[in-house]
Amino acid sequence: MSSPGTGRTVDVVVVGGGAVGENAADYAVRAGLSALIVESELLGGECSYWACMPSKALLRTGHAVMAVRRLPGTTADFDPQAVLERRDRFTGNWNDEGQVEWARGADIAVLRGSGRLAGERTVEVETGLGRTVTVTARRAVVVCTGSVPVQQPCRARPGPHLDLTRRASRS
Ligand SMILES: Cc1cc2nc3c(=O)[nH]c(=O)nc-3n(C[C@H](O)[C@H](O)[C@H](O)COP(=O)(O)OP(=O)(O)OC[C@H]3O[C@@H](n4cnc5c(N)ncnc54)[C@H](O)[C@@H]3O)c2cc1C
Repeated sequence: MSSPGTGRTVDVVVVGGGAVGENAADYAVRAGLSALIVESELLGGECSYWACMPSKALLRTGHAVMAVRRLPGTTADFDPQAVLERRDRFTGNWNDEGQVEWARGADIAVLRGSGRLAGERTVEVETGLGRTVTVTARRAVVVCTGSVPVQQPCRARPGPHLDLTRRASRS
């Protein structure tokens, strides 16, 4: 990698550090290439902080309680606060330091900021405070920016509600 700060060159640039981007970078490094992930929010993406992990952490208690209650003569109760605290632990309290540590151990560089394709194998990254870093890939740019939820227009409550998943898993 050359001169961090104004410009970098690696073999593979991965834009988006969700589950898919992390795997793409990991495969590249295991194949003997250098890789850098550009991530604009939390390394680990939706799955770790708003989707798979917190939803399963929330649902597990309900499943366990219902399983017990189905047995004749048995009962089960739960503490909602403890369920929410378990969810928060699963997400690392929405702190991605653990995943950054994993990337470091896997030899994957992480650059915080929002990336956009700026030319052939070139990504411009807005890192905040008006600073832009240009990252060049010797081999490939892999776009792993995920998707956004879309809700069909609803007569009762018109208008898009694009952050439904996040509100459901974090409230
Ligand atoms: C409630 C819920 C539960 C789910 N449960 C499961 C489950 O149990 N099992 C399962 O397999 N799947 C589950 N999924 C699906 C799973 O969450 C997705 O398939 C997965 O998160 C997709 O990963 P991704 O890397 O493609 O995208 P994302 O996780 O969305 O990652 C994309 C990343 O790119 C970053 N990004 C976007 N644009 C830029 C940019 N311009 N510059 C830099 N970074 C950028 C984003 O910040 C994000 O971190 C669930 C989904 C939901 C909504």
